[in-house]
Amino acid sequence: MNNAICGMMDPHNEPVFGYLPNSPERINLLNELKRQSNVEIEIPLIIAGKEVRTGNVGKVVMPHNHGHVLATYYKAGEKEVAMAIEAAMSVKEEWMTMSWVERSAIFFKIADLLAKKYRYTINAATMLGQSKNAYQAEIDAVCESIDFLRYNTFFASQIYNQQPKSDSAAMNRLEYRPLEGFVFAISPFNFTAIGTNLCTAPALMGNTVVWKPATTSLLSNYYLMKIYEEAGLPGGVINFIPGAGSTIGNVVLGNKHLAGIHFTGGTSTFNSLWKKVGENLDNYVSYPKLVGETGGKDFVMVHPSAEPLEVATALIRGAFEYQGQKCSAASRAYLPKSLWTKIKEHLARMLGEIKVGDVNDLGNFVNAVIDESSFNFIMSYIEKAKNTKDAEIIFGGKGDKTKGYFIEPTIIQAFDPYFITMEEEIFGPVLTIYVYEDDKFEETLKIVDQTSPYALTGAIFAKDRRVLSHMCRALRYSAGNFYYNDKPTGAVVGLQPFGGARKSGTNDKAGGYMNLTRWTSPRTIKETFLPAIDYKYAYMY
Ligand code: NAP
Repeated sequence: MNNAICGMMDPHNEPVFGYLPNSPERINLLNELKRQSNVEIEIPLIIAGKEVRTGNVGKVVMPHNHGHVLATYYKAGEKEVAMAIEAAMSVKEEWMTMSWVERSAIFFKIADLLAKKYRYTINAATMLGQSKNAYQAEIDAVCESIDFLRYNTFFASQIYNQQPKSDSAAMNRLEYRPLEGFVFAISPFNFTAIGTNLCTAPALMGNTVVWKPATTSLLSNYYLMKIYEEAGLPGGVINFIPGAGSTIGNVVLGNKHLAGIHFTGGTSTFNSLWKKVGENLDNYVSYPKLVGETGGKDFVMVHPSAEPLEVATALIRGAFEYQGQKCSAASRAYLPKSLWTKIKEHLARMLGEIKVGDVNDLGNFVNAVIDESSFNFIMSYIEKAKNTKDAEIIFGGKGDKTKGYFIEPTIIQAFDPYFITMEEEIFGPVLTIYVYEDDKFEETLKIVDQTSPYALTGAIFAKDRRVLSHMCRALRYSAGNFYYNDKPTGAVVGLQPFGGARKSGTNDKAGGYMNLTRWTSPRTIKETFLPAIDYKYAYMY
């Protein structure tokens, strides 16, 4: 019998483990790091629940020690992409007609497996494969993944509960159908949790998924896929296909059953996907839903009434945690001249203490950037700052890719508020500061709003409440996640639903119910009890 109205648990956020010296969790994590460092695994494709190996392979390496191979992975070719779509389409009927309570139980179980049995596995894989320190891996791979799974299940129950009114003559209901076709999930390297969310959110709502993970986060993403299987996710519901984005994208976007894209990554990648969808519009069964969270050029705007130590701390954490490779990372800051000396002193002290290096040393705050092309890309911006009169490097500026892709936390002072590093996403440990004259506060607010095409996150600092609310109004469209007196990073599922507009994405708010509604195509059903038997209305007699 399938008649239970199941009350989904009111979700709570997964507690963050501290990894203090000698704590059991630290010992467990260090052991798991050692274990994973001493094996080289194979990462096959997983299609219809079966492992698939192709003749085309690549290597997964540690960004902080790129000579160390962690895994060999197999790349999908056109044939395997077609197989993955076929698998997704063939289990669709069975998956969407399964009771949503049964479906939800699988995602709760994945969350529980991540919280307990595989906490250190997924943490260590994220640390080694994506070069995250223990804390950054814990808040991402473990806690945020679990939060997505638990909150989304709760939001799904709330969505299904949203029903129209009925009356004595007719009963009305909304059936939240999954999309007609399959969903293409494409995840970025920088958050393991985004890999979790992009494929599980549509699946939770009854869709089947072709998942293309980022090539540089394959280790953690493969372990995630194995956990989905262990939790009882039927084969074919999520199909895991590593490989070249262009090869995979071309086949998937050309398929008439493409019903949605759940993407996070760079703006130019999303633009190319959108254009391709536009070219293929005549072929699709339905208009594909396009959900994309993309780049950012996130700001910190400081009023003269702010507290310098709070500002400096937010800048250090906001700009340099995970080497600035967060879409939300603080990458441009506007500081009043009256506070600059004090803020600079605090920055100098903190940067003097920060250690850069391997993830195995938990004392390191900054680790390596993801790969060589990122390293070169970031260093090219640092070079631009070295070779101009419009800017000066005031901290850091050096990089070394001999063993790992290490770049010092770097602060550039720009003398032109439109200097290139104030405008373009660099996606590395580089913060550019513009010091404004205190009496140019209003003009500077306009510059903050108009400098970059993005509008993802932004932070404002002030003590004066009237100033805070004025800044909030003036910067209404400058960021989708807006912070008063805090760094612009660290959004938590359920607490700060995440996403931005302009060139930062479709702002469908990951970690909120809004995202889940995108994976449904509701059908309204009206049932009339006594159908009319006379075509004339009463007024006609
Ligand atoms: P990316 O280079 O755009 O890659 C994202 C994903 O797209 C990867 O899986 C990539 O595969 C794939 N891809 C690339 N070209 C493709 C194509 N033609 N067809 C299909 N898939 C394709 O981004 P990234 O370097 O991984 O991540 C960094 C970017 O993500 C930054 O711009 C950052 O701001 C953004 N981001 C945004 C958010 C947000 O919420 N707004 C969150 C996190 C990251 P390969 O790995 O194989 O190239």
